[in-house]
Amino acid sequence: MFFHSPSHGDMETEVFIAGSGPIGATFAKMLVDAGHRVIMAEIGAADSFTSKPRVDSPSAAGHSDEYSVTFAPNQVVVPGYHKKNEIEYQKDIDRFVNVIKGALSTVSVPTSNVNVATLDPASFQNTKEKPFISLGKNPAQNPFSNLGAEAVTRGVGGMTTHWTCATPRLCTDIERPILDTNPDTNNTLWDELYDEAEKIIGTSRTEFEKSIRHNLVLRTYQNIYKDKPAEEQHTFLPLPLACHRMPDPDYVEWHATDRILETLFTDDKKKQLFTLLTNHRCTRVIPKHFRAGEENEIEAAEVKCLLPHAEDRTNSTFHIRAKVYIVACGSVATAQVLANSNVPKDFQPPKNKDPRDLIIDTKLMPNLGTYITEQPMTFCQVVLDANLINSVPENPFDLGSWWDKKVNDHREHNPEDPIPIPFRDPEPQVTIPFSKERPWHVQIHRDAFSYGGVAENIDTRLIVDYRWFGYVEPQERNKVVFQQLYEDAYGMPQPTFHFEMSEDDRRRARDMMADMCSVALKIGGYLPGSEPQFMTPGLALHLAGTVRAGLDEETTVANTYSQVHKFPNLYVGGNGVIETGFGANPTLTSLCYAIRSANSIIEKLKPEPKA
Ligand SMILES: Cc1cc2nc3c(=O)[nH]c(=O)nc-3n(C[C@H](O)[C@H](O)[C@H](O)COP(=O)(O)OP(=O)(O)OC[C@H]3O[C@@H](n4cnc5c(N)ncnc54)[C@H](O)[C@@H]3O)c2cc1C
Repeated sequence: MFFHSPSHGDMETEVFIAGSGPIGATFAKMLVDAGHRVIMAEIGAADSFTSKPRVDSPSAAGHSDEYSVTFAPNQVVVPGYHKKNEIEYQKDIDRFVNVIKGALSTVSVPTSNVNVATLDPASFQNTKEKPFISLGKNPAQNPFSNLGAEAVTRGVGGMTTHWTCATPRLCTDIERPILDTNPDTNNTLWDELYDEAEKIIGTSRTEFEKSIRHNLVLRTYQNIYKDKPAEEQHTFLPLPLACHRMPDPDYVEWHATDRILETLFTDDKKKQLFTLLTNHRCTRVIPKHFRAGEENEIEAAEVKCLLPHAEDRTNSTFHIRAKVYIVACGSVATAQVLANSNVPKDFQPPKNKDPRDLIIDTKLMPNLGTYITEQPMTFCQVVLDANLINSVPENPFDLGSWWDKKVNDHREHNPEDPIPIPFRDPEPQVTIPFSKERPWHVQIHRDAFSYGGVAENIDTRLIVDYRWFGYVEPQERNKVVFQQLYEDAYGMPQPTFHFEMSEDDRRRARDMMADMCSVALKIGGYLPGSEPQFMTPGLALHLAGTVRAGLDEETTVANTYSQVHKFPNLYVGGNGVIETGFGANPTLTSLCYAIRSANSIIEKLKPEPKA
């Protein structure tokens, strides 16, 4: 069940989870499946739903606990649905750009030097001494070392309520982290985890195989490159995507966190074990002591109801006691909750110091927020070549009668349409996987992001988006730190980035741009306004390394089971655990870590065998 403004005092459970994104949800699903009681706190609201058949009580009418909405008999409501599944966006993907923009809150906005010279002189102005500090505005942020587009999404399902659903595996060269020092064992471990993660999120490589545009782009590239010399070879494949095609083949259902949480809402037995508190902030987890370097443990999670009813405003902060605590609040907020957990309750910040220099000391959890990585990104859009479009009626790749039928039906019903492709033909979804030779991840597709919407007077069927994602080496000097005196919009310590690319990273980014341009121009010309460009750092939204998990305790926050060093009952989840630099989209890999971690927690919670 889920509710957003309960009146409750302290609570008790077996497992406490902060964050309801896909990673928190994976922990919840696996632990409830194993019979454990779980309370999950989510700082945002439940704002996207689907309805699913109830499992155990086929005669009962579906009923949402909080909203008192009655659904069709046998149906229950599950939160965390992908918003792009709405018919409005299935019909016009460019409208979804605004949904994504609305879902993203920028993490750190530099304000030390903000000066509006043309402002009415009698209006209130900030000054260099007292810059703006509300809603993520951050006087401590140096714009030169910012991840200016890094953002978070708050709400049940986290970022998967709008994500692109690309779920590639990390490449064994460079990208893939080490869970075991024996390379063969390591690869076997990863293969097994990836198989399971793909099952949980529902990855497929075949959902676009009956698309004209997809085949046009994929096969044209495969043909162009097949006779190239070895050093110019590129491998073009369908992009692995977490989705499935609907009974109406014009539409797909994009997978999100609802899919992971589903049985916790539809199965009456599991429902008893699971509580989801929405609009509840996990402020910190409370350590037994504050002595650095010593074994420690978490005694409780401090949780605050952000929208209390008038009568319980005074006790909106309460504690949840559990055997195991899991923080899975996304890359930034997981480190933020842990940083806050390093501050003793009676701590007083020093006076007479520049507040910009006052940073939380995370001595209980060394390496927290260090060695962060984020992907440099290039982008452009291309209008497909006229010859390519004109070749469509000839079925140029001999793909059988489905192609001819689609084209002929469309032309018969729409003789005025200059383009011989059905209006609802699914978009291209092509990738070139990351490799040692070309160390970047590629998406050649048509999709919505927070940018790149196509103008209403242009036909989207002619447009292809090119997104290249590079990697950076993890470096100790690249950090996110948390301010003692500035708070973010949700009352948590304000994050500040210190991020710079190395010389190698910069050179690689240039090579990546050159590669994108050379590939893009082979099948079309740039869409005016969407010529090749580097995007603002952070825009990939693939920040990692904030709570890195690994074998080397000197450079990590947690072990390879995502258990925080020195804290046997504290675990972390999300992209922050990935310790390597990588170009691919990270969520599938973070699911792998969560699966590995949840299995070890289930082992730990097993009752001692009776002697
Ligand atoms: C436009 C877009 C496209 C993307 N495309 C892809 C893609 O194709 N492939 C891919 O792999 N990834 C993609 N991503 C990123 C992907 O969505 C994330 O990697 C994934 O959602 C991370 O999961 P998570 O559970 O770790 O964190 P999140 O999804 O960020 O969820 C964390 C949750 O924790 C909550 N929270 C934060 N602080 C607190 C607190 N103090 N207390 C309680 N709750 C808290 C948040 O509200 C949030 O709901 C995309 C994201 C966007 C926005």
